[in-house]
Parts: sequence; structure tokens; C-alpha cells
Amino acid sequence: MARVFSGIQPSGELHIGNYLGAVRNWVELQHQHECLFSVVDLHAITQPYDVTTLPQRTLDMAIGLLAAGLLPERCTLFVQSHVSDHTELNWLLNTVTPLGELERQTQFKDKSQRQESVPAGLLNYPVLQAADVLLYQATLVPVGEDQLQHLELMREIARRWNARFAPDGPFTFPEPQAQLTTSKRVLGLDGQAKMSKSLGNTIGLLESSEAIWEKLRPAATDPARKTRKDPGNPDICNIFTIHQGFSPPDVQRTVAQNCRTAGWGCLDCKKVLADNMIATLTPIRERATALKSDPKGVRRILSAGAAKARALAESTMALVRRQMGFLEPAED
Ligand code: SF4
Repeated sequence: MARVFSGIQPSGELHIGNYLGAVRNWVELQHQHECLFSVVDLHAITQPYDVTTLPQRTLDMAIGLLAAGLLPERCTLFVQSHVSDHTELNWLLNTVTPLGELERQTQFKDKSQRQESVPAGLLNYPVLQAADVLLYQATLVPVGEDQLQHLELMREIARRWNARFAPDGPFTFPEPQAQLTTSKRVLGLDGQAKMSKSLGNTIGLLESSEAIWEKLRPAATDPARKTRKDPGNPDICNIFTIHQGFSPPDVQRTVAQNCRTAGWGCLDCKKVLADNMIATLTPIRERATALKSDPKGVRRILSAGAAKARALAESTMALVRRQMGFLEPAED
């Protein structure tokens, strides 16, 4: 059994892209491994953000994760800022992280280009990610392709720290392995960009059945299907990708066949998809409604998760502080 760590930013309610790309996999992983999942609010502040809505967005994300199937008795769910060791280890790892590697990270280059003044936190984001994982000596990290570069840097940081402070072994930090997400990435409803709340191209995980259909109806399909008689290619249609997330295999085969032969129109295809999405998402929405009616209960779950995470983190930090040569405080 491996120890798994993964995090998600507190963007408020989950959307189906988060669900299919990450959270559904987490729900399975919690039955196979020892899992820690975190709402990573410390990562969220590396970009401009709304201070007043951050607490509610953090709570809403936790509600979405629990409603989607994370079970507090099977995994540790907590808010990153509730375990202060993340920031301490972040600082310590900064001292062995090469600046050049940080500057080479594709995500940093993308995001920094869009800003006039680049905060150092954006540059150091991958070091905090390394701290998140190494703090728990986690060995498995579920990631999408776009996070592989950060994971490789995390491994490099672990190697450098071990070589400097635990040269004779045993190594304090195992080099974490990637568990690559197998599902194809769902694009936004525009069929162009990544599904993202800021782009307004999402379907929320907790949307009503009516809202799901309202959003699905005008969503982009294979542009080759200009009329009902034109055959399409499901492999380049985002609606088919969403079918692969929600529809059973026999329905997926029918969809592909009907698309290639112009056996049905895109609206027919979307109606079948809407039915399957609604069947999956209705129980999730119902669980979320119950959780929303008890925010104190959700916060208690998060506090219990943070206490479990803190116990693991403190044991790693005691070892790390000793290995780095810090003077221990006197006992009373
Ligand atoms: S029939 Fe379905 S899979 Fe084919 S282009 Fe239309 S929406 Fe996409």
C-alpha cells in the first residue's frame, strides 16, 4: 500500500473537468492506498484572489469532494493552511532548490508572462508542491500530464535534500512516483480551452438537471457536422470525451457508430449524455445539499483531517530539523 498525496485549489464548487480528471480517481484510490487529500489554499494565493470569498470557496470545495465520494474514514481530507508544517518545509526545501529549474517550469513561464510584476510565490509554487508531498513522505502522486514537470522537480528536490542532509541513508524523502491520470482531458463547453471556472466554460458538479441540459445543448461538437447528414469524428469531439466519463461502454460504442455514420444528430447524442450525467450527478448533488446544511459538521471533518495530517507532518519535521542541524528548544 502506497501513501498518496494530492491537492486541489479552493475554486469553490467542483466542475465535471475536475471530477473526471482527478476527483473520481481519488475516490478509487482511497480504497487502495493510504491517502491524504488537501484543499490547497496556500497555492491559491500565488495569483490575485478575493480574500472575502476564500473561506467559503474552501468550504465549498471540501463539500464537493465529500459529496463526490471521499470518505473521512477512508482518507485524510484537510485544508493545507491548517497544517503549518507545509510552509516551514517549503522554506527549508527552498534552500536546496536550483533557481534555474524554477525559472524553466512551463507553468511559471506561462503565468508570469501574463503579469507585469511577478510575485516570488509564483516562482516558488513547485517548491510548496514538493513540500506538500515530501512532508508526508508520500510515494505516489496522481497527476495529469501538465503536472509531470513539477513532479520531476519534486523528485530532484528530494534527491538533493537527501544527498545533502542524509547522505548515508536511510533517505528521509522517498522520490515520489507519478500516477498518470488515464482519462482524456475534458475541454470546456467551447471545445477550445481547458475547462475552467474563470473561462465560464464549465458544467458544475452540483448543477441541477435543467442547468446541465441548458449548458450541454449549445456546447461545441465536431465542426465537420454542419448538418444532420454530415458524418462526424467522435475522437475530436469534446462531447464524446464527456460520454467516455459518464456513459457505459456499450453506449459509448453506439455514440461513436452513430456519429461516424450520421445515424443521429448531435442533439440526440447530447440528450443521451445528459441522461447519463444526471444519473451520476444527482446523488452527488443530494449529498452536497445535506452537507451544505451542516457546515459545522464539514469543518469538524476538516479539523479531524488536519489533526491526522499534522501528526504525520510533525514526525517528518522533527527528523528534518534534526538532520538539518537546528538546535532543539529546551524542554521545561
Ligand atoms: S454526434 Fe455526438 S460525438 Fe458526434 S459530433 Fe455530434 S455530439 Fe459529437
